[in-house]
Amino acid sequence: MPDEGNVSETEELNSSAYKWCWGTVNLSNDSEGGPVWNPLFVEMVTAGSVMLELWDRVVGPRQRADLAEGLAAESEQSARLAAAFLAGVGRIGSAGPSHMVSFGAGQQSSPTLEQARSDWRDRALRAGLPLPPTGARVRTADPEHITAAVLPRLTGCDCAGYVDGERCRNREHHGLYVAAYALNRHDADVLHADTVAKAYRATGGPAWDAVRAALVNAVGNQVGIDARSLPNLIRPTDHTRLTAFSRLISQSNGLSRGNAARGFASPHETWEVLSDGARLHAREAVSRIRVAG
Ligand SMILES: [Zn+2]
Repeated sequence: MPDEGNVSETEELNSSAYKWCWGTVNLSNDSEGGPVWNPLFVEMVTAGSVMLELWDRVVGPRQRADLAEGLAAESEQSARLAAAFLAGVGRIGSAGPSHMVSFGAGQQSSPTLEQARSDWRDRALRAGLPLPPTGARVRTADPEHITAAVLPRLTGCDCAGYVDGERCRNREHHGLYVAAYALNRHDADVLHADTVAKAYRATGGPAWDAVRAALVNAVGNQVGIDARSLPNLIRPTDHTRLTAFSRLISQSNGLSRGNAARGFASPHETWEVLSDGARLHAREAVSRIRVAG
């Protein structure tokens, strides 16, 4: 049994575990000695900042009004903040055992990749990220489906008695499910309850719930809202009205990916440095599309 001192030390470490989820892995930095993976939370908060930049500088007044209406927002400012928050949390489903153990998947296997994976894993475990043991069987699900399964519970639905990502019957929370299901959707398909339930079983349980809650809070912090206030900002009822919204979410996520050439962020940086860096990245990325467009 750990003594009191160890418990609080573990809590301290656990509180930063979320910073060790990886977002992008790119080995081309290795020769320079730079980090080969970019933290997921940095890319998530950057996506939130990108949406704010898009909203303010690219989306026209007419489209802003349409978006606010589709989201059934209290005001355009509520829609703007909710959209930025949702852009940021759209990849929350990546923060789970099945995606995290796939570090570097899709890249050519090499001793450099093996070393990078093992270094990341050791340090992430030490920071308290609840990774499964090497070689353990891990339930898999599409991260996008995991997002739909977990997000309503992280953004204001605390209704008891609903399991496996089942939709609650509280009308006030209906919009949370509509919004969570609209993320990552590029067509009019509705996510089937069975798909969500299957994804729910791959979420990794309470230890990963804590990691995801920390990530969602980081995005809320960046955008300037309390994650659980989402039901007060928007109440969408019709997913077919959210097509333009889904497209902006996807664009924000695309522009938020860490660029190896520009240098990846370090989980050891302070929140202030990373948060300012995310805003700068967002400003530059949106300026580039404005010039290109
Ligand atoms: Zn609810």
